[in-house]
Amino acid sequence: MNLQKLEELLKKEPGFRIKQIERAIYKDFYENWKDLTNIPIKLRDILNNEIDLSINGRIFQSDDLHSLKALIKLDDGITIETVLLMHREGRNTICVSSQAGCALGCTFCKTGDLGFKRNLKAEEIIIQVLFFSRYLKSHNSKITNVVFMGMGEPLLNYDNFLSTVKVLNDEDKFNIGQRKISVSTSGITEKIRMLADENLQINLAVSVNASNDEIRKKIMPIADKYKFNELLSAVKYYIEKTNRRVMLEYVLLKGINDLPENAEELSKKIKGLLCFVNLIPFNGEDQDKRPLTKNINEFKKILLINRISFTQRHKFGADIAAACGQLVFSKDI
Ligand code: SF4
Repeated sequence: MNLQKLEELLKKEPGFRIKQIERAIYKDFYENWKDLTNIPIKLRDILNNEIDLSINGRIFQSDDLHSLKALIKLDDGITIETVLLMHREGRNTICVSSQAGCALGCTFCKTGDLGFKRNLKAEEIIIQVLFFSRYLKSHNSKITNVVFMGMGEPLLNYDNFLSTVKVLNDEDKFNIGQRKISVSTSGITEKIRMLADENLQINLAVSVNASNDEIRKKIMPIADKYKFNELLSAVKYYIEKTNRRVMLEYVLLKGINDLPENAEELSKKIKGLLCFVNLIPFNGEDQDKRPLTKNINEFKKILLINRISFTQRHKFGADIAAACGQLVFSKDI
């Protein structure tokens, strides 16, 4: 679906007509121009010939029925993955990919294993949201939250990420509140600062995954470039500018970062920061990396004693490889 071409085609149309068409795409989630019976037939035919509204995707459902993974094939044949998490209280969170693959090679992440193909264009991120919006419409439901936590590092595709946020938030388009949009970064500090200056209210999540530079470097090569202190200082800046509570993501890896001393060191470093830790026990294929329950509990106990807020992420969709760090290209479409 070429949204840029659509914009060009509609350039000479009156404002109300553009609004009608935007409504059809972003609110009524039409998949066929023929359904737009309120616009002139001539324009409908032009749109029908020039802009393909279809999205080439396939859905996989997890055993728990609460998460779906979509494989979406882009125009150049690359396949990306998008996940929909359906929470019991009616929240529907879509986890979008911002890049095809990822250059950063975190050791606990399947996407990182694939290497980097290319940045996604804004419209390629937007079609992921449209794809699941159409699916949910057929179930009388809609997307309530968007997280940039799929394949890739969103802040290394900053302009397309930001354009997408604007479309998501636009009241004439998806109309999703800024506070319902989250971005997760491996810690690109200059971009965190840039985002802080955008005057937005979106949620920031930072993949910390360690309590010091030595451990972080072992599992996240990007830590060679961005030091832990520098990262925390960028997080502080984001909090100062936005007054938003930041989520620090921490993938627990057995024997690497799940020890009591790691919990103590982390607590000391983040004490007083407007943040909470999201613990994610590693749930990938490599059994040796999965933390023991007693270590997870000890880690949580230490955070509790140090009055550090934390949550533990549910293992949504692990059976369809839709859990964190498990998104890959697939030819299976
Ligand atoms: S965890 Fe995120 S930043 Fe790291 S390799 Fe995976 S997709 Fe890239």
